[in-house]
Amino acid sequence: MPATPLSPLEQKAYNLIKRSGKKGILQSELWHRLGIDSREGSRIALKLLKRGLIEREPVTYNGKRTYRLYIKRVREATEKIKLDGIIEIPCFTCPLYSKCSSGSYINPSTCSKLTEWIIRNILSRRKS
Ligand code: SF4
Repeated sequence: MPATPLSPLEQKAYNLIKRSGKKGILQSELWHRLGIDSREGSRIALKLLKRGLIEREPVTYNGKRTYRLYIKRVREATEKIKLDGIIEIPCFTCPLYSKCSSGSYINPSTCSKLTEWIIRNILSRRKS
């Protein structure tokens, strides 16, 4: 089921959170700038959270526990993918590639070239 679109107020809240950048925005400040009460504000924040559009972090501000809201941060990819072994897969240079598919006469599960490549890779990983 497709998600319901954001209401104009929810969109405005999202835009304010987005504009706050890395420093984020306190919930209370957001409610104040939107001109709404905390109940309505919490409902909007929860909707944005459930949609995965924002993140929140518990903070203490003026002695009270509250949340600072941020736009959902995109995690940087930290792992590098090694392509060395993948480049050597026989399928990339195979003249039968266009005719090869699961269920046809020429297929990966009976291919000796592919099987040999897999075994060679398993053996080389065990050695390293
Ligand atoms: S599985 Fe074998 S036959 Fe099929 S594309 Fe790869 S190397 Fe070619």
